[in-house]
Amino acid sequence: MKSYREVLHFHLPSRRGLVNITHQVEQALRKSGIQEGLVLVNAMNITASVFINDDESGLHQDYEVWLEKLAPEKPYNQYRHNGYEDNGDAHLKRTIMGRETVVAVTEGKLDFGTWEQIFYFEFDGKREKRVLIKIIGE
Ligand code: ZN
Repeated sequence: MKSYREVLHFHLPSRRGLVNITHQVEQALRKSGIQEGLVLVNAMNITASVFINDDESGLHQDYEVWLEKLAPEKPYNQYRHNGYEDNGDAHLKRTIMGRETVVAVTEGKLDFGTWEQIFYFEFDGKREKRVLIKIIGE
């Protein structure tokens, strides 16, 4: 069995933001040379998510509105976590959107359903963040 590891680096200029990372994952898969296996993609920070859905701007705005209803950023003092930090909402949003995604690799390609794309979702940006890509197979 082969394995391949790569780390992507992010530093978003805003507190929240969505980045389509499908192309970077496909590039990593090509570099790995793996034809049959699995790709794991996970956020390495507890205030960011990796998830799969549609690359459609209306949906992306819907996520922002929906997440702000569930875990509004402000007022900061509504969260016990806040004090030294102000990112209580970001931890909750990350929990809702998930830590990682796994995609099957078939004949050297990401074996997606229709419209599936991989996204990095930042909830507490303006600092360095990382995403791990781990590919196993043969
Ligand atoms: Zn925190």
